[in-house]
Amino acid sequence: MSKNKIIKILNQASRTKEDLVYLLSFYDKDERQLIYDKSKEIRRKYIGNTIYLRGLIEYSNICAKDCFYCGIRANNKEVTRFTISDADVLKSAEYAYKHNYASLVLQSGEIISKAFTKKITSLLKQIHILTKNSLAITLSCGEQSLKTYKEWYDAGAHRYLLRIESSNKSLYKQIHPNNSKHNFDKRLAALYNLKKIGYQVGTGFMIGLPKQTVEDLADDLLFLKEFNIDMVGMGPYVEHIDTPLYASRNELLSQEKRYLLTLMMYALLRIEMKDINVASTTALDALNPNGRVEALDIASNVLMPNLTPLKYNENYHLYNNKPDSLHADKLVQYIEKHKHLHGNKIGFGEQGSSQHFYKRIHLKRTTIAKNKKES
Ligand code: SF4
Repeated sequence: MSKNKIIKILNQASRTKEDLVYLLSFYDKDERQLIYDKSKEIRRKYIGNTIYLRGLIEYSNICAKDCFYCGIRANNKEVTRFTISDADVLKSAEYAYKHNYASLVLQSGEIISKAFTKKITSLLKQIHILTKNSLAITLSCGEQSLKTYKEWYDAGAHRYLLRIESSNKSLYKQIHPNNSKHNFDKRLAALYNLKKIGYQVGTGFMIGLPKQTVEDLADDLLFLKEFNIDMVGMGPYVEHIDTPLYASRNELLSQEKRYLLTLMMYALLRIEMKDINVASTTALDALNPNGRVEALDIASNVLMPNLTPLKYNENYHLYNNKPDSLHADKLVQYIEKHKHLHGNKIGFGEQGSSQHFYKRIHLKRTTIAKNKKES
């Protein structure tokens, strides 16, 4: 009976919140497989079987914020802080260039200062010169002003990831300090600013947070649709011992359930938003050693080998048990090892822009042109 209902919902043109809540509640293997198969079918039909690479540089673990779930929050005094030298950033970028990744992500804690803005601008320019403008660069450096986002866009960053973490304002408040630095509306406004400038915009969530319901997760999926997002980076919530949210660890779903819920979110996201880019995030591997590979098999199309020099790596832990299984020098073995990846093609030399982004921009331009004609 439930199988017929699942198939009926999956074959609809789109799904309501009620439908999504229903689909998110399955832990039975056969029923889950129906949903995974639909996601796989859609992925192949709309975006093909290429897995794009994004070389990840964790540039700095210095952060001015104090998010309750994060291991590198400002108030965690157990962390050794670092910022990678320019020379090391350029070495990593050169590695990505020489190994044909075609794309880089520069990620850091949130620092708001003129010096930081200028530093990122300068690194962007140097990377483009060094790599002959051949790398697409994504930034993930938190909430910044419209002016800063524009400066970085002009310096050659055309993709930006800013995770909203939860689209439920009240849950957002529960996992952040109650002050102006951690304001849901400001974060949302930053996402709209990125879109206004012309970035390919990415956001995402944690799945399995204390007090989070399946209704919240269904709303998260609908939020992505409504925002018309181009890229998503989402993963299971994995607790960190040196954070305030660790005190709620007994309220969490088991690791297995959090993992399965996350895979289901990946599948439903692909079914709802057929042509976006979805990264297979590292946190999946913290709960299951094959996590990233399973997500790639079911729904995602972006893999992020870590290019952070090993000497810094151990100090960029947003959660406990962060896996080190995919440092860039192990990429070839990783691809060899995981049979699931063999049905897919690794997109060496391909920047792999979000197809959704191009369609969105095209639609915007044709609408403006049409409106001009009519006025
Ligand atoms: S989640 Fe991001 S903004 Fe929040 S403390 Fe961690 S690095 Fe800083």
